[in-house]
Amino acid sequence: MKSHAKVVVIGGGVVGCSVLFHLARHGWTDIVLLERDELTSGSTWHAAGGMHTINGDPNVAKLQKYTISLYKEIEELSGQATGVHLTGGVLLAATEARLDWLRGVVAKGRYLGIDLEEISPDEAAELMPLLDPKQFVGAVRNKEDGHLDPSGVTHAYAKAARKLGAEVERFTKVEDIVRRVDGLWRVITNKGEVVAEHVVNAGGLWAREVGRMVGLELPVLAMEHMYLITEDMPEVAAWNQKTGTEIIHAVDFDGELYLRQERGGMLMGTYEKANKPWSEFSTPWNFGHELLEPDIDRIAPSLEVGFRHFPAFQNTGIKQIINGPFTFAPDGNPLVGPVRGLPGFWVACGVMAGFSQGGGVGLALSNWMIEGDPGADIWAMDVSRYGDWATMAYTNAKVRENYSRRFSIRFPNEELPAGRPLKTTPVYDLLSAKGAQWGVAFGLEVPLWYAPEGVRDEFSWRRSSDFEHVAKEVRTVRTSVGLSEISSFAKYRVTGEGAAAWLDRLLACKLPKPGRMTLAPMLKEDGRLIGDFSLANLGSPNSNGEGWFLAGSGIAEEYHMRWFEAHLPQDGSVHIEALGARLTGLSIAGPRARDVLAKVTRADVSNAAFPFMAIRKVDIGMAPCLVGRVSYTGDLGYEIWVAPEYQRAAYQTLLAAGEEFGVGLFGSRALNALRLEKNYGSWAREYRPIYGPLEAGLDRFVAYGKQTDFIGKQAALAERQQGGKLRLRAFVVDAADADVIGDEPIWFDGAVRGWVTSGGYAHHSKTSVAMGYVPKEIADEADGFEIELLGKRYPARVQPTPLFDANLERMRG
Ligand SMILES: Cc1cc2nc3c(=O)[nH]c(=O)nc-3n(C[C@H](O)[C@H](O)[C@H](O)COP(=O)(O)OP(=O)(O)OC[C@H]3O[C@@H](n4cnc5c(N)ncnc54)[C@H](O)[C@@H]3O)c2cc1C
Repeated sequence: MKSHAKVVVIGGGVVGCSVLFHLARHGWTDIVLLERDELTSGSTWHAAGGMHTINGDPNVAKLQKYTISLYKEIEELSGQATGVHLTGGVLLAATEARLDWLRGVVAKGRYLGIDLEEISPDEAAELMPLLDPKQFVGAVRNKEDGHLDPSGVTHAYAKAARKLGAEVERFTKVEDIVRRVDGLWRVITNKGEVVAEHVVNAGGLWAREVGRMVGLELPVLAMEHMYLITEDMPEVAAWNQKTGTEIIHAVDFDGELYLRQERGGMLMGTYEKANKPWSEFSTPWNFGHELLEPDIDRIAPSLEVGFRHFPAFQNTGIKQIINGPFTFAPDGNPLVGPVRGLPGFWVACGVMAGFSQGGGVGLALSNWMIEGDPGADIWAMDVSRYGDWATMAYTNAKVRENYSRRFSIRFPNEELPAGRPLKTTPVYDLLSAKGAQWGVAFGLEVPLWYAPEGVRDEFSWRRSSDFEHVAKEVRTVRTSVGLSEISSFAKYRVTGEGAAAWLDRLLACKLPKPGRMTLAPMLKEDGRLIGDFSLANLGSPNSNGEGWFLAGSGIAEEYHMRWFEAHLPQDGSVHIEALGARLTGLSIAGPRARDVLAKVTRADVSNAAFPFMAIRKVDIGMAPCLVGRVSYTGDLGYEIWVAPEYQRAAYQTLLAAGEEFGVGLFGSRALNALRLEKNYGSWAREYRPIYGPLEAGLDRFVAYGKQTDFIGKQAALAERQQGGKLRLRAFVVDAADADVIGDEPIWFDGAVRGWVTSGGYAHHSKTSVAMGYVPKEIADEADGFEIELLGKRYPARVQPTPLFDANLERMRG
């Protein structure tokens, strides 16, 4: 075994081998994979080997498509058969709600290049002869489904990597990982030590144990999973003989089943409701190629449905039931990327569909390690979407929920209850008493809307029970004054003598003067967005440690802290701190907002003394607060930052003062309706690391001419000169009883040319609206756009100016 390597990959399952292959293909060959046993000694060996292109997140779907397209290449490179059978498959819907969901999947496939087609149950039965068409209301055909040999694929990755110069050491168990003072990693094994610049944790079933070696508690948990294999079936033999082809894959969502042919019989697996975690606290090192005891009672309810939906199963015997463990993150998507605070330590774990996702994970991680960027939008897989709030108990609750809902529909207005409430702010019970319906962002409970007694969300793809109540909240803001909780924003304080210079290099905007705020896009080296913040100058850099204040997307707090910390100067001249729930927030907005503020403070809050984008300390009643004159509602408004011990007092003071002006509470659904009619984008929706500032319409906040060579400046200048490829546009949509939620295709002149990033109903303007990206060449066309919604295309028109307050009179007045 070599003593030094650029990269050590820990784990020879399908994911570790894919990472090794991609690093080698990308040109890094001083790399070694360490496997404690034979390759495939974790989940990989007993996988059912199914592969699919569809995923709830379009960017993950793209990487799944890539994974499937890769198998031919690694087979040729390695000479190792992968056993790929691209049979195609049918996705089955037994309810209308499921069919609506499937139509959304077909629609997304149009801009992802995934060939999906809606078909009738009878047409599905012609393709997959075992199903009873009477049990279904519709189906979708996917030509890119199939199955493969899990061991063959893993060895093909490893062999191809070896051919390119990588090394694989089997029976080499990593027992400890220690960071040296020079930043290199000592990877200590039962056979000696390797010193490495980078370590990748692809430990699969043991990813937690490998994480713990560096003090990291990863939010992953293994679940038992069962599938059965039948005896040979005459119906299968007859079909094979008649058509010369295998029986194609089927996913029966409402039965929560997946099926495919296995030799002369069938394989049927299920994600049972009565699921069971495996090795909840730590994974035994002596576990390897053994299977778990099957428990047919647990899967019996699903099998009953299966036998009804696929009657031929009633006449066959079960040859074998496989029960094996594999790992999940709380939301079921992989955990990939660099880990904050551990330079050179990377993870590629929690991959629950290694044969659909392993290739994409390897590609993204190798790009990230070599180029400094994953090269694709992998937010849905980024390990930084979790923070230290994702504890073992939280993970346990969420993974169990996710497993049991693997094939369930999640409606756009549906909030999932497991592992909640976890983080709450001091006004939580006060807002609950007013009917708050809660959502969650980065572990923190967030008020979505306020329901009258007896009214709750009715889950639907269409406008639902909250519609008229959200409309009322919007009306309150636009006609008098609304109060909302905004603690879920991420808040950062930046201090130290180097703070101004550092921010000037990190952010693309011009730094604001003391007491002022600005919008602050943050770019990567390639000139694309990595963040958008509001930046406030709280005085001189050293005034009582106040310095600078940043507010940004709450869900990206860990993501942005990882970026900030990776760019901090080494000399200790800058300090950045994420304030989390140690700083809470309230906001008042609407034409009477200033009247409310004036009533609760002695400070002069007139427009002259406290203009738009000013920020200062203001006492609200007795509570000391930091107040910025800005509002995401696009109205006259204030964001109020307050220490948690004062939040209740500030809230009650504002509510009491607002009574005479008709104050009402509003939640994030109303906020969404309000910001949409201002054409305001939001992080992880309109603003993502694949768009340039010009494309995203944030170029007006980029100080292209500032002296400082800010990160991404050259690339941003090039984008401005060349014009980029896309444009973010706001649309009004002639929708009927449903509004876009995001990821719908945008058609132009009869072809899919773009995608929706978010949208909804703008209650004040009484208009259905959408935001999305289209090629710049067509971005300003007056006619010809349509947006596909629940399987139908609706005319849409570009809305170049905001529907509300286009002249900024309300906001600045
Ligand atoms: C019953 C069942 C059916 C499944 N069906 C499918 C399917 O149809 N399609 C699909 O895509 N996925 C399926 N899966 C899931 C799939 O198996 C996993 O997604 C995949 O195997 C994960 O691979 P991995 O490389 O991340 O982890 P693992 O396969 O667990 O590999 C981790 C490897 O790391 C090694 N290792 C760990 N710690 C150390 C250490 N300290 N030192 C050295 N080596 C170490 C282990 O020995 C192991 O070989 C199924 C899983 C099960 C259990």
